[in-house]
Amino acid sequence: MARVLWQGSLARLTRCSVGLFNHLVYYGGPCFVLLAVLLIGLCAASFLHTVLPWLAAPRQLATGGPTDALEPSPATDAVRPFVYYAHSAAAYYLLACIAFHYYGAVMTPPGGTEAFAHRVRERATAAAAGAATDAATEDHAAASPEKEAVIPLARDAKYDLEAALDGRGVPQKIGARYCRKCDRPKPDRGHHCSVCRRCVLKMDHHCPWISNCVGHANHRYFYLFLVYMAAGAAYFVVSSLPIALHILEWRVSSSPRLPPPGSPERGVFVLAWMLALFIGAAVAGMAVFHTWLIARGMTTIEYYGRDVAEAVASLRGNTYINEYDLGPRRNFRVFFNLGPDRPWWTVLVPRFVAPLSDGTVWLRADDLVSRHSTAWLRHTDFKDHLLPV
Ligand SMILES: [Zn+2]
Ligand SMILES: [Zn+2]
Repeated sequence: MARVLWQGSLARLTRCSVGLFNHLVYYGGPCFVLLAVLLIGLCAASFLHTVLPWLAAPRQLATGGPTDALEPSPATDAVRPFVYYAHSAAAYYLLACIAFHYYGAVMTPPGGTEAFAHRVRERATAAAAGAATDAATEDHAAASPEKEAVIPLARDAKYDLEAALDGRGVPQKIGARYCRKCDRPKPDRGHHCSVCRRCVLKMDHHCPWISNCVGHANHRYFYLFLVYMAAGAAYFVVSSLPIALHILEWRVSSSPRLPPPGSPERGVFVLAWMLALFIGAAVAGMAVFHTWLIARGMTTIEYYGRDVAEAVASLRGNTYINEYDLGPRRNFRVFFNLGPDRPWWTVLVPRFVAPLSDGTVWLRADDLVSRHSTAWLRHTDFKDHLLPV
């Protein structure tokens, strides 16, 4: 008895702790965003103020300086103006990409399940009305238990309706998943976020650093933010490595091209360089992980749920296969919504791009080999992705 009471108290305490943590993450989100903007701004200001002038410093300034003064960058004087403009262009380009994609990740709602739930309920009502008519006509004594247990739903209500109007029929029926917390149906790959307290389309994870869920509509911005952040941090760390090594040797030296010892600019540079090195390494690790996930057609939630899916499949005597994995090239094309009107180089340009489809229907590996599904999918947003890549 005492053990049961203890376990009940422990479970309540755990629920309270998780709830408190979720509240802190949710309401503390704007502080994380402000901190991220300040740190990125600090690194950018230090690069433009300290590193860029050194990269393009004229060589003759070194003559007559202290013996341990830092030599200017090894570019010759003839190409020095070009070096300055090239580094300026690279720095401003990376900064623009970082700022744009961070803005997109923070400000773009990831996508909710309200419209999907509305469609499912409409269809369920229509199906129930149809079942009642059938029962009256055919004099059925009771409804089938299967009809009560599973809400009949085509792979996507919108396209199914179009297909039915054209007389092509319904290609496949599945039961809708249901979120008990939101009390509404949710589509495949949709999950409930306990921080946002709502269901999110193709949820990847909740990120406190963007104070937002990473989901269907802002996944592209989040991923490109990681990539450009990693590239920008690497560019900063490598291009200013001689300065950092010079300063971190703790020589009390002065150089006409560097902030003097003890100056705020010197301290800001050391802080910025350390941030770019360590946080940049962590962001680069995340960028590599998400690149691998996208290449495998997985979200972070699906990656961590893979063990359970494998165990369930094994218990049923089956082998788990990720049905959303269409092969690396096609996975990236679907992820970035690339197609005839949007070539691959558009990911190098900061621009708003709507995701492919409405986030409730997905192309699956089976669809690429099934003639029936392919005929149906030719009328969806995925029609350009059925061709060989
Ligand atoms: Zn929910
Ligand atoms: Zn969330």
